[in-house]
Amino acid sequence: MVKFDYFEPESIEEACALLERHGDEARLIAGGTALLIWMRMKLLNPRVVISLAKVANFDYIRFDPRDGLKISAGALHRDIELNPAVHEHYPLLYETFRKVAQPRIRNMGTVGGNLCQGDPLTDPGASLIALDAEITLTSSKGKRFLPLGKFFVDYYQTDLQPGEILTEIRVPPSANGVRWSHIKFLPRSQEDFATVGVALTLRLQGERCDDIHLALNSVAPTILRAKQAEEIMRKQKVSDKLIYEMAEVAATEVDPIDDNRGSAEYKREMVKVLVRRAAQEALQRLP
Ligand SMILES: Cc1cc2nc3c(=O)[nH]c(=O)nc-3n(C[C@H](O)[C@H](O)[C@H](O)COP(=O)(O)OP(=O)(O)OC[C@H]3O[C@@H](n4cnc5c(N)ncnc54)[C@H](O)[C@@H]3O)c2cc1C
Repeated sequence: MVKFDYFEPESIEEACALLERHGDEARLIAGGTALLIWMRMKLLNPRVVISLAKVANFDYIRFDPRDGLKISAGALHRDIELNPAVHEHYPLLYETFRKVAQPRIRNMGTVGGNLCQGDPLTDPGASLIALDAEITLTSSKGKRFLPLGKFFVDYYQTDLQPGEILTEIRVPPSANGVRWSHIKFLPRSQEDFATVGVALTLRLQGERCDDIHLALNSVAPTILRAKQAEEIMRKQKVSDKLIYEMAEVAATEVDPIDDNRGSAEYKREMVKVLVRRAAQEALQRLP
């Protein structure tokens, strides 16, 4: 590994000032589970590494019935998984975070690091998008707020601008009657990245689908929201035929690649199967 200067700021303001001072030469590190691999492989050689580990108050998880859930970017996967409010009010998040890698990684990796690496194979982004999460990006110039769905730009590229730190993820209060499903399709090993990931939330009004969010991971250059598929269901009377149609449309919105988890064609077929399964599972789940 190439030599680098290492800083441990104790506040976000201090971290932002360091980022501004060192510009392109600097890189943030949180849990280090992704960054250290890239540095060891010499894919990244930052001259300056700024750790977020000692930043005060950077790992909170707060729930309020009116404001919803606020998760600091430095919160560990494992702490989110084990948080009682997450378990009770956001079971989709509980289900997602408990499936991230294995406990060793969940005890090191942060949700901020997970989202900021912009890896389309990762799990939390899809579930957070399905729950309409917003993020706060903080720099020396101030704060910027963004729906998480607009954050992912391309393979390993996000909308994070120079000098910015992801500081908070906010999830709106869980609306009454929300049904959900999360499927992490892992034909190889329980600890692998998903071959296909599906996160779905929907709300019924009578027999109609009042609202629906469908997000997918591992099947395109970014985690994506399948908006055309959602439109098939939104405000329509739910039926098996409609669910089938939604799944077919979802498969046209993805752009998977051939890799060691399967061919692009196989993943596209699995999107059809798993979106159907997710919708059926969500409908069967009592709100
Ligand atoms: C063996 C293994 C298995 C894995 N399996 C899964 C899996 O099944 N599902 C899954 O979702 N993920 C999986 N991961 C990915 C893992 O979840 C991420 O590596 C982890 O969440 C990254 O968090 P970190 O805190 O370690 O980030 P770091 O490695 O510290 O940082 C990652 C990137 O984010 C930037 N960064 C970190 N924090 C911030 C911030 N607050 N603001 C701006 N930029 C920031 C860093 O500069 C760096 O570019 C796996 C990783 C490993 C090593």
